[in-house]
Amino acid sequence: MPRPVPNAIAVLAPELTAWRRDLHAHPEVGFAVHRTAGIVAAKLRAWAVDEVVEGVGRTGVVGVIHGEDGPADDAARRILLRADMDALPMQEATGLPHASTLPGAFHGCGHDGHTTMLLGAAKRLAETRAFSGTAVLIFQPAEEGDRGAKAMMDDGLLERWPVRAAFGLHNVPGMPVGAMGTRPGPALAYSDRFRITLRGRGGHAARPHLADDVIVAAAQVVQGLQALIARRRDPTNPALISVTRFEAGTTDNVIPQTAELWGTLRALDPELVAPMIEGMERVAKGVAAAHGVEVACELGLDADPALVNDPAVTAFAVEVMREVAGEDAVDPAMPTEMGGEDFAWFAEAVPSCFAFIGNGDTAPVHHPEYDFDDAAAPHGVAYWTRLVERALPRRG
Ligand SMILES: [Zn+2]
Ligand SMILES: [Zn+2]
Repeated sequence: MPRPVPNAIAVLAPELTAWRRDLHAHPEVGFAVHRTAGIVAAKLRAWAVDEVVEGVGRTGVVGVIHGEDGPADDAARRILLRADMDALPMQEATGLPHASTLPGAFHGCGHDGHTTMLLGAAKRLAETRAFSGTAVLIFQPAEEGDRGAKAMMDDGLLERWPVRAAFGLHNVPGMPVGAMGTRPGPALAYSDRFRITLRGRGGHAARPHLADDVIVAAAQVVQGLQALIARRRDPTNPALISVTRFEAGTTDNVIPQTAELWGTLRALDPELVAPMIEGMERVAKGVAAAHGVEVACELGLDADPALVNDPAVTAFAVEVMREVAGEDAVDPAMPTEMGGEDFAWFAEAVPSCFAFIGNGDTAPVHHPEYDFDDAAAPHGVAYWTRLVERALPRRG
């Protein structure tokens, strides 16, 4: 059983629930998180957070909280905590009283809960300041596919607020409320998109010898990609290629002139990416040459790096989790996943730990019946607060 949270945090629960349900009822997608960012900034200011900066990476918010003896003298006494604020462009089907009021937008990944947990931590840290150094709290837009993390980095986040380590937190349905976990090293996958377009003469379905059949060629490309990922990769090193869209033709008696393949490459090991992309190009060009058709390859589009947790920072975060949640409620070696998470951009730049917190027995994230469990929020606040206090211990 996970440990109960300290009383000083437990009393925040009704407030956390109210914030979370308000955010849930008013979801905002991508970078258009204007209302959410406004609420976050207003609350941080109301709690006398030392520095509140809006518009970082378009709509991100940064809140800086100094410990009891003022600003940190250098990056060694500064850490970064990150929450994401965006919802998904999908329809909610929970039927809950606090359900989305906006058709086609839904907090289906629990970022409403993530924002709430970091807000709770901000309130508590600004009140108690039982640490020495500076906590940089960031609320980012556009985690779901639009690379809000990268936008904040490109806007100079880490130059304006250099830190020694960064921490992220995501809820996990199916894990008990209050339980926590993470894993050192690669945790989530590199992910990209690709488009492969084959072009030939086309022609009558009854006279294939006078046409170029891009459908047969594209089918071989699909199989070639699967052979590549199965036979040209160390099988102990996880990676995958999924072709997710195969578009060609309009009717049953015409061989079309183009066939288009879309898909994604995923890999946990950053070293695998370049050889796999080279291999994909080789397969596509080789098959096209064999069929006498043209091919255009757009590979590695919108690539997000693999999320690699720093072993030392992760070992430290696990200690904090054990203190907060209790030894038995912490999994320090969770399985890897081939999903992506744009916190990877921060983890690539500074030693980091991305952790997970139980969301109880709910539908999975990105499912129309998913909801963040409000009972999880105080546990997240307890983790964030203790993390800062232990990473930036009081001097003397
Ligand atoms: Zn998501
Ligand atoms: Zn998410």
